[in-house]
Amino acid sequence: MKYSEISHFSHPQHKLKFEHSEFPFKCDGCKEVGIGSSYKCTVCDFDLHLHCAIPAPTIFHSFYTKCSFQFFSRPPGEKPRFCNACERDVTGFVYHCRDCGFDLHPCCAKLPVVLDDGEIRLYLYRKVSSSCHKCGRRGRSWTYRSPCKKYNLHVACVKDMLVENWQGFMGGKSARKFDTRIPSLKNTVLAQNKRKSKAKKGWEMAGLALQFVVSAVLGDPTTLIAGVIGSMISKA
Ligand SMILES: [Zn+2]
Ligand SMILES: [Zn+2]
Ligand SMILES: [Zn+2]
Ligand SMILES: [Zn+2]
Ligand SMILES: [Zn+2]
Repeated sequence: MKYSEISHFSHPQHKLKFEHSEFPFKCDGCKEVGIGSSYKCTVCDFDLHLHCAIPAPTIFHSFYTKCSFQFFSRPPGEKPRFCNACERDVTGFVYHCRDCGFDLHPCCAKLPVVLDDGEIRLYLYRKVSSSCHKCGRRGRSWTYRSPCKKYNLHVACVKDMLVENWQGFMGGKSARKFDTRIPSLKNTVLAQNKRKSKAKKGWEMAGLALQFVVSAVLGDPTTLIAGVIGSMISKA
């Protein structure tokens, strides 16, 4: 459900307004990057993913049928925690299962099980045995895979790519200071494919697959991001 304005416990001093941005932002809830829809305080440059702005107290996930994940505004306990979906550190909002100690970033917990635009369909798996299009490794994090099983992309690899490309931005806070917009992912994909000549022809498909995964990973698979990232891929 979308509200045009909300009050949030993490930012009680101002209301947060629903916004749509083509610029990446750093979510002040989960501390991960986001794009597209957000709840924002423009006075303080404070942003939250939709999933972080309106969390559920408890969620269940089809990959962990015995788990019940509770929402925490800070990672529980003293130990450093990492997300079971993307393998990145958990430093802010998190869904945590007390029984198993599993953790999921709010956006990772809400990753769509199927990404489908009518032409390309990708399914989310907890683990796949084939190698990832980006890193070439098996296993590792959750993976999006095409029905033909040829294209496999780790959620972790997509996040790594974004973080590498957006390092300058991730260090700072304000998206306004970040003027290169969406970075080029094409080069990353191409570089990878040059090394593996077999996969050369696949890059176009991989590029398309990538844009879906990117927008999903950023917390908003439903927006025009696919278009934005699509144009950046073709212009690069
Ligand atoms: Zn967030
Ligand atoms: Zn504020
Ligand atoms: Zn559990
Ligand atoms: Zn995660
Ligand atoms: Zn990978």
